[in-house]
Amino acid sequence: MYRTVNSPQGARIQLDGREVINMASNNYLGLASHPQAIQAAKDALDQYGVGPTASRNIVGNFPVHDALERALAEFKDVEATLVFNCGVSANTGVIPFLVGKGDVIYSDALNHGSIIDGCRLSGAQIKVYQHKDMDSLERILKEPVAGKKLIVTDGVFSMDGDLAPLPEIADLADRYGAMLMVDDAHGDGVMGPMGKGTVDHFGLRSRVYVETGSLSKAFGSAGGFVAGSRELIEALRPKARSFIFTASPMAPCLAAAALKVIEIISQDESYVDRLWENREYFANRITKLGLNIGTTVTPVIPVIVGDEGLAERMSQDIFEKGVFAQAIKFPMVPKGAARLRFIISAGHSKDDLDLVAEAIEESAKENRLLSQR
Ligand SMILES: *Cc1c(COP(=O)(O)O)cnc(C)c1O
Repeated sequence: MYRTVNSPQGARIQLDGREVINMASNNYLGLASHPQAIQAAKDALDQYGVGPTASRNIVGNFPVHDALERALAEFKDVEATLVFNCGVSANTGVIPFLVGKGDVIYSDALNHGSIIDGCRLSGAQIKVYQHKDMDSLERILKEPVAGKKLIVTDGVFSMDGDLAPLPEIADLADRYGAMLMVDDAHGDGVMGPMGKGTVDHFGLRSRVYVETGSLSKAFGSAGGFVAGSRELIEALRPKARSFIFTASPMAPCLAAAALKVIEIISQDESYVDRLWENREYFANRITKLGLNIGTTVTPVIPVIVGDEGLAERMSQDIFEKGVFAQAIKFPMVPKGAARLRFIISAGHSKDDLDLVAEAIEESAKENRLLSQR
């Protein structure tokens, strides 16, 4: 069964009855339990109640939804956004809006499952290119297509912490007349100036047609969104099936919390700065031990151990030492590439990260992944 959390999300959580350092949540900026976010949610609860009980296009649209969409548009430097109840709904809503039968989607082999679902729902032909492989992408882009073309990729890949080569992808999109969509669930609040995301990290704002994102990661709430031109968003609003058919739009209290977090990080760069300081500190410590962190350039730090049993054993070992990190196995990652995944947060202290590194080192030695000495 699932492990049970009995505390707010944070650097340390109560997990199955004990306190552990939490290296598994997507709470990149440590803001999921920020007092001002909690207060904003409480105020919205008092003002608007718990459940919306209607779709936004009927009577489930609250002022806080509109305010959140405006704040997200400003944060992302786009004309407009549309807020969904989660990132999965944003992907399954927007992709079938963009393409359909007769069109072709070009999808990175390691794209998130909800992108894959959106692609399948669209009825378009799906052509998968090898992970980040531009030759592979160009080869399939050269094949003749009658309809529209859509290239879709994660900005940050959540299993390896590597980045999509967006400048090269944007060039290919231009050359072959394809729309470019980036799902930046792990890049928003993390990458780029002020945490504006992977697209701004590469300075490609004007060359990306549409972005999707999640409010459940760095933004510390729960919800999703699509970002793009005003024309695109206004056309999407009455069409996205995961938007118009749900009487579970983003709850007003969650929207209020996300709005507060955007306000906080737009005024105060220190959260993003601390996240990156922590990321560098931890990545250096783990690399110095001689462990393999793969191709990560983000706060997602995999420690690749290869064998699935070993990954499980090490996850259990470090849990006993007061650290929780998820063991990740096939089919989430290829066979032989099992790993522990550590997600760094601005909320972690240096002491937390030292304890985590020590627990990993001890376990790696006990399991002969590192030599004992
Ligand atoms: C988490 C994630 C999603 C889903 O977002 P939710 O808001 O959690 O539903 C979509 N795409 C990517 C790349 C993700 O990492």
